[in-house]
Amino acid sequence: MSKRVAKMETPMESARMQDIVSLCKRRGFVFPGSEIYGGLQAAWDYGPLGVELRNNIKQAWFNAMTHERDDIVGLDSAILMARTVWQASGHESGFNDPLVDCKNCKERYREDYLTEIQEKMGIAADVCPNCGAHGTLTEPRQFNLMFKMNFGPVADDSSIVYLRPETAQGIYVNFQNVQQSMRKRIPFGIAQIGKAFRNEIVTANFIFRMREFEQMEMQFFVAPGTEDEWFGRWREIRWEWYKSVGIHMDRLEWHQHGPDELAHYASEAWDIYYEFPFGKKEMEGIHNRTDYDLSNHAKFSGKDLTYFDDQKNERYIPYVVETSVGADRLTLALLSDAYDEDVVDGEKRVVMRFHKRIAPVKVAVLPLSKKEPLVDLAKQVKRSLSHLGLTQYDDTGGAIGRRYRRQDEIGTPFCVTVDFQSLEDQQVTIRDRDTTEQRRVAIAELPDILAADLRS
Ligand code: ATP
Repeated sequence: MSKRVAKMETPMESARMQDIVSLCKRRGFVFPGSEIYGGLQAAWDYGPLGVELRNNIKQAWFNAMTHERDDIVGLDSAILMARTVWQASGHESGFNDPLVDCKNCKERYREDYLTEIQEKMGIAADVCPNCGAHGTLTEPRQFNLMFKMNFGPVADDSSIVYLRPETAQGIYVNFQNVQQSMRKRIPFGIAQIGKAFRNEIVTANFIFRMREFEQMEMQFFVAPGTEDEWFGRWREIRWEWYKSVGIHMDRLEWHQHGPDELAHYASEAWDIYYEFPFGKKEMEGIHNRTDYDLSNHAKFSGKDLTYFDDQKNERYIPYVVETSVGADRLTLALLSDAYDEDVVDGEKRVVMRFHKRIAPVKVAVLPLSKKEPLVDLAKQVKRSLSHLGLTQYDDTGGAIGRRYRRQDEIGTPFCVTVDFQSLEDQQVTIRDRDTTEQRRVAIAELPDILAADLRS
């Protein structure tokens, strides 16, 4: 969480953004939440291909954080936690946005956005940008972003719980459990993927800013005095990771938090910005959280959360370097990063150039005709590829070119065409999404060839 300072989010006016949103709906990536009831603002549902895409992204992150390292382990803590957790973390008293209402048109603003919009429009500070009325804006009042609810049947102060606004606190309260059960020595980290909820005043830009979203957070516990070195290392590691999911690196940028932006727990913070179609915005935050959280949990819980460092022969509260990226924001970044249009055989096509690791469908099998012997063979071919990830079978007939276009639009790296010749020579054609080149290979070798191509 960064302190709320003016960061203007203009609605998704760009044509490219509209194209992405409509493709997502049309092709089963993301649907508006509660759509048949008119929709619920800032709530989105992931369709069949969206689930695959986001799962692949989460898996890539989790693997890089845990399987590919010896010093980080995973955790999945509960969304609901004791209220004291949020008192200790400072969220109950401080996770606020300043809210301004217009008494005339009922428009609602986050104060920092309001100021920026007014400056942009060249209007006075007492004028509502929506209706133009003078003196109708209320004084800002602090609005806590946590969703509050009651735990159990009795709704009183003693039963208050919050939907977590970040996953990090679940890691801190389990620091000792993990350290002891896994016999971890500092430095080590805990990685977690899970839902977070923020009652954002202003929501905009599709899945960029939602009220229910998913975070991928890692807290790295280090000895006091080594946090700056680890902070630098984690900045490098996280930057490099984006290459592995095929993002255009020239669309990334560092942004250092100024003193007015730093969250209450952070001594230093750098964001990785991505160039979304609506502007350069935060995608990931890397924070030096010092010993703030663990010290406060020790204070509020009365438990000793110190760690005994047997190499230094001393006890201390570890310092923490956090890396935090939104799974939905990253999904949006990768959707817009992949979106491309080109011309093939004189015809315009939309092609999602997803990295093969994150593409929702890995291979599509297309029989040239719906006739019996061909369909049987094509189904056999599809079954032989099921271990590669999600495969699709499309015998809807129609020109093969049109079926290729449909797969291009969802970013399927390879199409396999089964034709009448295949019945004779036991060979099929592989067509490459990006180059559109085709090659003929033996059916017996197809699973190995595609497995190698998908890894490359
Ligand atoms: P912002 O300034 O955009 O509100 P933040 O600095 O408060 O973000 P953090 O608390 O650092 O965000 O959260 C870590 C990551 O979680 C962000 O970089 C972002 O990817 C994601 N995230 C935060 N809030 C939302 C949201 N409302 N919807 C989707 N993702 C979010």
